Amino acid sequence: MAEQYPDTPRTQGSSVFLCDSESRGISGSRSLYINHKTVYRTCAFVMEIYGLIGCPVEHSVSPIMQNAAFNGLGIDATYCGFRVSEDNLKDAVKGIKALGIAGFNVTIPHKESIIPFLDILEEKALGIGAVNTVKNVAGRLVGYNTDGRGAVIPLKNAAGLDGRNVLVLGAGGASRALCHALLDEGVGFIHLANRTPERAESLCKELMKAGGSCTTSGLSKRELAESVKDVSVVVNCTSVGLYPEVDETPFPGELFNSDLVVLDVVYNPLETRFLRDAREAGAETIPGVEMLVWQGAMAFEIWTSKKAPVELMREAALKALGEGGWK
Ligand code: NAP
Repeated sequence: MAEQYPDTPRTQGSSVFLCDSESRGISGSRSLYINHKTVYRTCAFVMEIYGLIGCPVEHSVSPIMQNAAFNGLGIDATYCGFRVSEDNLKDAVKGIKALGIAGFNVTIPHKESIIPFLDILEEKALGIGAVNTVKNVAGRLVGYNTDGRGAVIPLKNAAGLDGRNVLVLGAGGASRALCHALLDEGVGFIHLANRTPERAESLCKELMKAGGSCTTSGLSKRELAESVKDVSVVVNCTSVGLYPEVDETPFPGELFNSDLVVLDVVYNPLETRFLRDAREAGAETIPGVEMLVWQGAMAFEIWTSKKAPVELMREAALKALGEGGWK
C-alpha cells in the first residue's frame, strides 16, 4: 500500500517526480504519493530508467502513457519526469550519461537548446533543428524528433496526405516539426498562417529550401477565409485554446466546412473549441491526443526496438486527461 505524502515540497532546480501512476507494481519498489496525480517511487529494482526533461513537466501525460506501455509489454523499466531549468540543462545531460539513463523525451524549453549536448542527431532532427527524443546508446546520446511524424500518422490515417494542400496555423516548434513531416509525405502546398508574420516567412523559406511549396499570411479572418478555400486539411499548431484558455480559438468557426480534415495539436482539453467548431461544421476532426500518443509510440519504439502498444498508450493518455482535461 502506498504511503500518502500530500504536501511534500518539491526541491529547487532539477527535481524528479512522476515515476509512475499507479500502473506498475514491481515487487520491492515503494510508492510515495505527492498528490492525487503524481507519485514518487524508489527505482532501486528497476532495470532501466527513462524520462522526460523540461520545465515545467508537472502536467505531462507522458509518464503515465510510457509506464503503461512498459507495464503492458512486461518491460522492466520506468519513466520519470525531471524538471530541469535552462541553467541546469548541461549538467542534467551529463547526469543522464553518468547515471546511464536509457532514454528520455525533451519538452519546452529544451527541444532546441539540448542539441549541442548530444553526440549524434538523426537526419530528421537535424533538418527540423529540434529534438524531442533521445536514446542512450552505450553512453552516446542520439537525438530524434518524433513530433512531426506523430501528427502526420493520424492525419494520414484519416485523409491520406499525398498531394493534399494544408493550412497550418502557427510557426513555432510544433509547426516546424509537422511541416517537415508533411513535406516527407508529398503534400501539395503548405500555407502557414501565424500571428507574427516574420516567423511564418522564416519557416516558409526553410520549407522551400527543403523542396516544399509554401505561402504565408497572418491570422486575420479575411486572410484565413482566403487561404482555407484552397486546402483540404487544417492544423492548429498554435497554443491557442490550451487550458485554461479553453474558449479561445485561432480560427473563426464559420470558416470550417464539411470537406476538411482538422487536427489540433493542443490536447488539453481533449476537444478544444477549434475542434468543436470544426466538428459542428461537419469536418472530420483529430484530437491532439492522437499526436501525443503517436509521438510517444515512436519514442518507445526507438528506445526498446519493440512495437509500441498504441492502444494501451492511448487508453492511458485518455484516462489521465479525462473528460474535462488534465488540469
Ligand atoms: P512555440 O514554439 O512557443 O509556438 C507557439 C505558436 O503559437 C507560435 O506560432 C505563436 O505565434 C502561436 N501563438 C501563441 N499564442 C498565440 C496567440 N495568443 N494568438 C495567436 N498565436 C499564438 O510552441 P510549440 O512548441 O510550437 O507548441 C505549440 C502547441 O503545441 C502547444 O500547445 C504544445 O503543447 C502543443 N504540442 C502538442 C504536442 C502533442 O503531442 N499533441 C506536441 C508538441 C507540442 P507567434 O509566432 O506569433 O508567437
